[in-house]
Amino acid sequence: MSEQLSEHFEKHELECHGEDCCGHSAPVSPLLLDFLEEFRDEVSQPVMLSCAFRCGTHNTAIGSDSETSQHPRGTAADILLLEGGWTVDHMGEVAEKVLDNNSIFADIHGGIGLYEWGIHVDVRHVYEEVTAETVATVAEDRGNSADEGTIARWDDRDA
Ligand SMILES: [Zn+2]
Ligand SMILES: [Zn+2]
Repeated sequence: MSEQLSEHFEKHELECHGEDCCGHSAPVSPLLLDFLEEFRDEVSQPVMLSCAFRCGTHNTAIGSDSETSQHPRGTAADILLLEGGWTVDHMGEVAEKVLDNNSIFADIHGGIGLYEWGIHVDVRHVYEEVTAETVATVAEDRGNSADEGTIARWDDRDA
């Protein structure tokens, strides 16, 4: 039986999917769980994750940069396209609303990426990306400049 991490999410949904690395660990941020619960509430249906925590080994194995990816920090989740006529754009809007409207996310500089398969959301802290280099990387990852707003289309490389 999988351990319950929050009201609606079990450990197996958020754990690392790598087979020979961390033993399916799931050290995710409580804020990420808060986000997912609120997002689930807003969309009024179960939310399927394709990926949340990835340990550094697994992250590197799938070709993601562990320096910039939020998944090895336990602050990111990839949410699959919702059933019932949802678009990724609409999902992105709901995610942005959740991050903007709750004071527990006041210190969070959320990253939202829109993809064919769904959306990437992370609850990174502003102070984690204050170096010029990181800001530039994040901006580049998002395919736009850092001050163009939260929602961006990223390519799959950094999902
Ligand atoms: Zn792992
Ligand atoms: Zn992601």
